[in-house]
Amino acid sequence: MGFAEIAERFKSYAPHVDAALLEKAYQFSEKAHTNQNRASGEHYFVHCEAVANTLVEFKLDLPTIAAGLLHDVLEDTPIKAEALEQEFGKEITQLVQGVTKIDALQFSSQDQAQAENWRKMLLATAQDIRVILIKLADRLHNMKTLNFLDRNHQVRIAQETVSLYAPLAHRLGMFELKSELEDLAFQYLNPEEYQELNRKIQVRQAGRETALESFKGALEEHLKSSGISYRLLSRTKSLYSIYEKMKRQDKPFEEIQDALGVRIIADTVANCYALLGIVHAAFKPVAGSFTDYISIPKMNLYQSLHTTVVAASGDITEVQIRTEEMHRTSEYGIAAHWKYKSGEKDKEKEDPHLEEKLNWLRQWIEWLQDLKSPREFLESLKTDLELNQVFVFTPQGDVKALPAGATPIDFAYAVHTDIGHTCVGAKVNNKMVKLDYVLKSGDVCEILTKKASTPKKDWLLVVKTARARSKIRHHLREKGLAA
Ligand code: MN
Repeated sequence: MGFAEIAERFKSYAPHVDAALLEKAYQFSEKAHTNQNRASGEHYFVHCEAVANTLVEFKLDLPTIAAGLLHDVLEDTPIKAEALEQEFGKEITQLVQGVTKIDALQFSSQDQAQAENWRKMLLATAQDIRVILIKLADRLHNMKTLNFLDRNHQVRIAQETVSLYAPLAHRLGMFELKSELEDLAFQYLNPEEYQELNRKIQVRQAGRETALESFKGALEEHLKSSGISYRLLSRTKSLYSIYEKMKRQDKPFEEIQDALGVRIIADTVANCYALLGIVHAAFKPVAGSFTDYISIPKMNLYQSLHTTVVAASGDITEVQIRTEEMHRTSEYGIAAHWKYKSGEKDKEKEDPHLEEKLNWLRQWIEWLQDLKSPREFLESLKTDLELNQVFVFTPQGDVKALPAGATPIDFAYAVHTDIGHTCVGAKVNNKMVKLDYVLKSGDVCEILTKKASTPKKDWLLVVKTARARSKIRHHLREKGLAA
């Protein structure tokens, strides 16, 4: 490690940016943390360097990486914010202050306290998601060095990681990071189960290597003859996701269907579909397994074609097909779309759809401010972090992302609070539906309103989104109708 490595990796994606400030931050932080050690016995600065390296891997901008190097300076050294601002300017200082603020929050008891902290954190960072990204990089390194802490700390930190940080990484579309955090936490939360599962998976993997290799060989023959360029990758499942599946289905490891998996990375969207055609022509697809997340992306930006086919050996094999850009998004999520502020030269590289992509996050943060209690917030966080989402269109063609099972009432509140409050009926794809109709992706939903109409108490029984629930409750409370 060392500054040269960070500088080189940074230059690889930001060649026009002067990295002098980065070097200054590196030296400043190293000096500030002199004589401080981590629980591991290592020099404290090793931690700051590790955080910066993770942020460089996410290809983030210079202020974020500088703030990553400096992220513990305000908290753990005598240096004051004024001094930091004088040396590095307002932007970097504000990022460091954001991280410091989050760290200062005390986690006294279980869910209430955590929810409150997270609410504050999200609100404080609504303007700047980079603070969350630094915090996630910080947590990743802390999880990697958790073995040096005592058992009580290990359990508390691992629990916090699995219940709040990992879901947040997921929410931001950072799947790699999410899995890494979960597997690290799993080791400390359920050490025996972890060891046992790890051993079983390795035994199973050994037996399956041959099946996967022969499928890949057969697949390559078909793909090559198409003349389309591609990369073929194997897919590994995280330990924790298998463990979750065992708990969810209440089945032992031996009964968990853990299909073989490959990924095909293509150069264009059109070639993704072309390669899908080749895969389906060569191998029998499992009925109903095909999902097109390219035409209809998941709410957290994820895009890919998913299908499941039967290999010659009879093994069920999952195939995911996506472009390089989609692959990057699936690994780095929102970080992959970070608008790189590097002056005129890189302007053309800016993602014109970034605003839309960040919009859901803003909406989410916006309505958090309406919520009263931390408990209500935690409930909403759990609901809205759910994997499955549906995309429903307004008659004007705007798309709203809603959790699976959402109804026209949820949709009405997603459009506007007043539309929700005055909703009297709904049309889906031009047909009248009941208000408890379950919306599907691709539905066009039109809400019928009446000015004098008000929310009904029994709506609470059918709504799925925390936003609708809190708006309805709020209204009923105001009208003195207990909810
Ligand atoms: Mn730290």
